[in-house]
Amino acid sequence: MTVLVTGGAGYIGSITTRLLVERGFGVVVLDSLELGHRAAVNDVPLVVGNIADSDLVTRVCREHKVSDVVHFAAYKAVGESMQNPTKYFDNNVAGTHSLIAAVVSAGVENVVFSSTAAIYGDPDIVPVTEDAEVRCESVYAATKRMTEQILEWYSATRNLRSVSLRYFNAAGAASDGTLGEDWRYSQNLVPHVMKALLGFAPALKVFGNDYSTPDGTGIRDYIHVEDLAESHVAALQYLRGGGDTMICNVGTGVGTSVMDIISTTERVTGRAVPYDIAPRRAGDPARYFANASKAERVLGWTSRRLLDDIIASAFAWHSAHPHGHAASQA
Ligand code: UDP
Repeated sequence: MTVLVTGGAGYIGSITTRLLVERGFGVVVLDSLELGHRAAVNDVPLVVGNIADSDLVTRVCREHKVSDVVHFAAYKAVGESMQNPTKYFDNNVAGTHSLIAAVVSAGVENVVFSSTAAIYGDPDIVPVTEDAEVRCESVYAATKRMTEQILEWYSATRNLRSVSLRYFNAAGAASDGTLGEDWRYSQNLVPHVMKALLGFAPALKVFGNDYSTPDGTGIRDYIHVEDLAESHVAALQYLRGGGDTMICNVGTGVGTSVMDIISTTERVTGRAVPYDIAPRRAGDPARYFANASKAERVLGWTSRRLLDDIIASAFAWHSAHPHGHAASQA
């Protein structure tokens, strides 16, 4: 019984892959290495290729006796998805559908899928529950919702069960400082804070301080990437135990503003974060954070790490790897 991890050389994928191995799962990684890095996979078997290559996926399933899939491989830049929707529909939807069709034919019964809280758009009620209205405000979010639906239809028609994990804001790095996010490929807040802090960017741009939030800046639910990784293990165990197809939020339930992130970073690192107030970023909601009670109830999962852990681990990772994993091979 082997778990196929697509995108296992990427940020969340590599940290989850390592956790799966630590927990005794057999793992094989499929990654195109377009954005992922070989060094992030270490000595786990790595197949370099595309999720849309059905022959390759079929061969990997056969050779490695794949029983489950954890599917991370996707493009994830919201802005780019609006500039180049074809790229996103092609890879995130069509590519994912090829993958699902191939693995179902190969006898795989369980899929854990990286979905996103971006599906909720600007929710009316926070904390947001899984039955909140779907309001995709980007092509990226739409590709994730479409994949959830593809998985639901395969459950209805084939022998496939899945858990779609709707991630809130993944952040931080592996606690041993060896795996993390490459800030060159990220538009997200914490890598940008670190870039400014460490002098690799002039100043952080705070996108708007006139939202209707206590300090005027956007509020999100930042979840430590190692906690997020744990949710995949829990989802896999749930499916192996016969659990039904479902959608589940993965967040902390705590809302944190951009200014909270800046002040926590300054306290944890002892350094000042240079920042400027900039206009709002198009499409950014004022605030959302998770109601994560379903994950606790159904998967037995809760987040354990704190915002301080997110900041400390990100600081350690980015200080040592300002060029991502490229530096590991230099
Ligand atoms: N943000 C910011 N400056 C940046 C990047 C992000 O002020 O350079 C803000 C953004 O407006 C939002 C929060 O940080 O309020 C989280 O943004 P991120 O892109 O990390 O995640 P999102 O929730 O948008 O997917």
